[in-house]
Amino acid sequence: MKIDILTLFPEMFEGVLGASIVGKAENKGLVSFRVVNFRQFSQNKHGQVDDMPYGGGGGMVLKPEPIFRAVEFLTEPVPAVEAKAAGKPGKRPRVILLCPQGQRYSQKLAEELAQEEHLIFICGHYEGYDERIREHLVTDEISIGDYVLTGGELPAMVIIDSVVRLQAGALGNAQSAVTDSYSTGLLEHPHYTRPAEFRGWDVPEVLLSGHHENIEKWRLKESLRRTLERRPDLLDEIEQTPEIKKLVEELKQEL
Ligand code: SAM
Repeated sequence: MKIDILTLFPEMFEGVLGASIVGKAENKGLVSFRVVNFRQFSQNKHGQVDDMPYGGGGGMVLKPEPIFRAVEFLTEPVPAVEAKAAGKPGKRPRVILLCPQGQRYSQKLAEELAQEEHLIFICGHYEGYDERIREHLVTDEISIGDYVLTGGELPAMVIIDSVVRLQAGALGNAQSAVTDSYSTGLLEHPHYTRPAEFRGWDVPEVLLSGHHENIEKWRLKESLRRTLERRPDLLDEIEQTPEIKKLVEELKQEL
């Protein structure tokens, strides 16, 4: 997977892309990053990338030309002959505009983006973008939540981290991504590790029993309990098997 990031603050990515699972994924060749300062695509001798808004008002607006030119530089189309030889049509990259007005980010969207071959992130700053960037350049607008940050760099890092950890071979234990909160449609069950007793607080007996079937049943029930307590809305989205229905009824009596 290729991931390109357009930003005015490339230094912000230095630690994040080189560390932990994301850094290891790049070392293993699962992903490659290019962090590009789109100021270098300005044709203005002062490297100007923003300007005052038409109609007046506060804040500066990112100009269309440097961002269009940067994306076009990063997306030389796959030559048709080459694409045919590879047995697939030249797949267009997803060009993602980080923006608080975009589609709310979710694990489902992370799973969808993780299937792509090439992602390009455009990190905004200042008041906003020239609207023609939204209308004619990007394929997606994504928000990481209903709040406003200074720039798109942190949202891009959030999305990149969540997408890279889903690449086959990125996690030490592939199973952990499958059972994570939201991947199953539920919040994950509680975890415990040694010691079995800590300051008088015991690990649930069933987890020490070695009885795998009972452990799985306990995990499912605790996962449902947590979801019911914290995010009951998620239960409307999952397939209600008879086992789940029964456990939810039991939990409702207990709560
Ligand atoms: N004036 C804009 C508005 O009201 O929609 C907010 C601009 S914000 C100060 C500057 C940049 O930060 C945005 O262009 C975007 O790239 C990024 N940003 C801020 N909050 C974000 C969020 N919740 N999700 C994704 N990107 C965000």
